[in-house]
This record gives sequence, C-alpha cells and structure tokens, in this order.
Amino acid sequence: MKRMAYALVAILALCACVSAATPDHQDLSAVGAEEALLLLKTGNKAFVAGGSQEPGRAAVRMKAVAAKQHPFAAVLGCSDSRVPVEIIFDRGIGDLFVVRDAGNIAGDYEIASLEYAAEHLGVGLIVVLGHKRCGAVEAAVDGTRLEGHINDVLARIAPAVAEAQGAAGDTVERAVKANVRMVCGQLAYTEPVLSRLVAEKKLKIVGAYYDLDTGAVEFLSDTGE
Ligand SMILES: [Zn+2]
Repeated sequence: MKRMAYALVAILALCACVSAATPDHQDLSAVGAEEALLLLKTGNKAFVAGGSQEPGRAAVRMKAVAAKQHPFAAVLGCSDSRVPVEIIFDRGIGDLFVVRDAGNIAGDYEIASLEYAAEHLGVGLIVVLGHKRCGAVEAAVDGTRLEGHINDVLARIAPAVAEAQGAAGDTVERAVKANVRMVCGQLAYTEPVLSRLVAEKKLKIVGAYYDLDTGAVEFLSDTGE
C-alpha cells in the first residue's frame, strides 16, 4: 500500500513536471522585444496554417495567472470584431496586454494603458496593429461625416489619409499602413514614459497589418528597441 502511495506521488510529480513544460506554464515574463516579436510571428503562422496550439486557454492557465499578470507584449489594435488579437497570434490568457479602439489610434487613455504595460508590467514590445478594410479608415478616406464622437476618430486618421491619397494602389490599405506608422511614431515620442523607455532601449514599438482574407500579419516597421 505504501509502495502504491509512493508510486502515486511519483506519477503526480511527473505530471506536474510535464505540465510545467507545456505552453500553459511557460514563463514569458522576462522575454525581450525580439523574442516577443518571434512569439507573435510564430503564433500567427500557426493561426494561418490552422495549426493552433491554443496555448494557455484552459482553466489551469487561468488559475496560474489569477494572482498576477506578466504579459510579454502589448498590442494596440482596432476594435473590429474580425481582428481578435489573442486568436490571430495564437496566444492565451495573460500573454498579451491588449488595447483596442476604432482605427487603432492613440489618445490619452490608450497611451496611459500602454504606459502601464511598459512601465509597470515590464512589457518590452508594443505592436500597433492595423488591418485590411478598416471601417474607420474607409470612412476617413470617403470623407464621411457621422453623428457623434466618431468624427474625432476620423479627424485623427485624416493625416494618414492625406499621405495615402494620390499614390498608386489601394488608398485604404495605404492609409491604414500610414496610420499605423504615424501611431508608432507618436507613441515613440510620447513623453515622459514611452519616449524614455524607447531611448533606454527597454521598449520597441512595431507596426503591423492584418489581412482579413488570409489571417496573415505583416510586420511593417519598428521604432526603438
Ligand atoms: Zn478597423
């Protein structure tokens, strides 16, 4: 009986050891910007290929991060329902600090959230994620006037539209990418927190573009590291 008990303890210890090595228990709190970027690229490739590992979406992961969060990257994405950040990067609970709004623009509240992620959670990578056929950018390109606060969003995107107009190719796609680059630049120069972290090379800000038709994320630019 005693021997059986020892065997049971050994099996449980082995299970704990094996499960600690699964993605659910990966400790990603100390990864640098380059490694974080690689994790996102790898995850997106798995998503595109349909080979999702669904890392860290089970109850065991939920409980593991319940007391404290250690996300390895922050993402400023569009609120569009077709761009669910954790799914397209094939990540799980507690992996990504996500801020979303229409047009992935950065106002005071979005910047404050990203400052919190970078300064207090130690995230070394911010991805600004635009996407194909973004409704906010399309409305800005069309010059649409809408009722309510949404015109503030369109006004914020207008400089990117101005840059995109007149060149060859798809105006909306160019404007989405120009908007992403502008927001990256804005964040990198936002004082006092983000600009300092970029200057100290503790923070990298990278632009990206999500293709609604293929699921692929194209990384566009980076500012600082
Ligand atoms: Zn959008």
